[in-house]
Amino acid sequence: MTLYSGPVFAMAREQFNTVADYLEIPHGERDRVLYPKRAVAVSVPVHMDDGSEVVFEGYRVQHHLTLGPTKGGTRYSPKLDLGEVAALAVWMSWKCALAGLPYGGAKGGVNCDPYKLSRRELEAVSRRYMQEMIPFVGPHIDVMAPDMGTNEQVMAWFMDTYSMYHGTTTTEIVTGKPVSCGGTQGRREATGRGVAHLVGRAMERIGMKPAAATAIVQGFGNVGAVSAQAMAERGVRIVGISDHTAAFYDPKGLDLPAMTAYAARNGVLKGWSSEAECDPASLLTQPCDVLVPAAVEQVITGANAGALKCRILAEGANGPTTPEADRVLRDAGRDIFVIPDILCNSGGVVVSYFEWVQDLQQFFWDETEVLTRLGQVLDRAFTRVMDRVAADRISHRDAALALGVEKVRAAKQVRGLFP
Ligand code: NAD
Repeated sequence: MTLYSGPVFAMAREQFNTVADYLEIPHGERDRVLYPKRAVAVSVPVHMDDGSEVVFEGYRVQHHLTLGPTKGGTRYSPKLDLGEVAALAVWMSWKCALAGLPYGGAKGGVNCDPYKLSRRELEAVSRRYMQEMIPFVGPHIDVMAPDMGTNEQVMAWFMDTYSMYHGTTTTEIVTGKPVSCGGTQGRREATGRGVAHLVGRAMERIGMKPAAATAIVQGFGNVGAVSAQAMAERGVRIVGISDHTAAFYDPKGLDLPAMTAYAARNGVLKGWSSEAECDPASLLTQPCDVLVPAAVEQVITGANAGALKCRILAEGANGPTTPEADRVLRDAGRDIFVIPDILCNSGGVVVSYFEWVQDLQQFFWDETEVLTRLGQVLDRAFTRVMDRVAADRISHRDAALALGVEKVRAAKQVRGLFP
């Protein structure tokens, strides 16, 4: 297939082939497991505030329908392309399968810069994108959620647009909505809390005490900010934080509440402090116990992997570590406990699943129930990955991917060629 190109899809394919070799999947069967079932590209025309008309490109990739509807986030980014969206959809499939959720993976988005759109323009992009997607999505076909550049408000606009078209409120068409319109308790914080929960499990394994540990977090959006906050609540000292505008490092610890308030006021971290500001490229290689990349793909590469100084690499973002970086870490015999992305950030889709279930039943749970069940699902997945690592002496990433891939493959083998 030539449709899916670019470095991010190449990375997803390389990871898959490594695992397919280990699982001894015949070459003739691999394309069927790897390549998406379908991809939709749409034009999103919008009246801008200055009176001009701009047409943005929108995408949605649905990886497979073998286990249920597809599920996945919606990304707004000026660098977005179909290959990246397809890679993210493929990773979602392995993630859902590892967590035991009845979904295939999907991903979508619009090639736009959400930081440069006014609120009215953002609403226009969001409503028109969903309008174009109506023929291809549905509560039992494909369910959207937030990702980079989108949030609860965007999900509310999606849900409202879909609902008004159908003439009936259909809360279960998206997850990550505000609680006031059918969202679940705990969804906004779910990914970051899940990251902190799994960092806690990794610390237990290597005998590290949270109160004596330090962490650096790249990205200060939904995943990064909540991960930092949730680790700080467990006693971890947050020594480094960045967003796309600035990076800050202070071995004595950063003032998280002040940074959160500053980012809420200004939208970005730039200008927060001149003393703690550092070179964004060097933030990832500063000394710390826990490193959490929680922004974009491919930030830990062959060039900087050897210089990491963390003990735990907790992948809040999707695809932050390239296969070349994985090889550098392995060949250098580095003792870094990797919590791979499809496990580490799976708290988001797990609570999205809880939201979908609650919406379908119109029967809502309290936050304690959501968090208790989230912890159970994450613990089960973590234990399965660790058991596989111990049994087959493979990397954490390969173990997590293998568990996801083999579940999807098994269902495809018994169902046949259609889904
Ligand atoms: P977000 O839009 O809320 O925040 C993204 C953050 O990353 C922002 O602070 C932005 O400034 C920063 N950023 C962007 N480019 C950067 C760069 N080059 N260097 C440093 N910081 C940069 O997005 P999010 O929802 O927090 O998603 C972050 C990552 O987590 C993505 O990889 C996403 O796919 C993944 N993820 C998100 C969820 C979720 O529930 N939102 C779930 C699973 C995985």
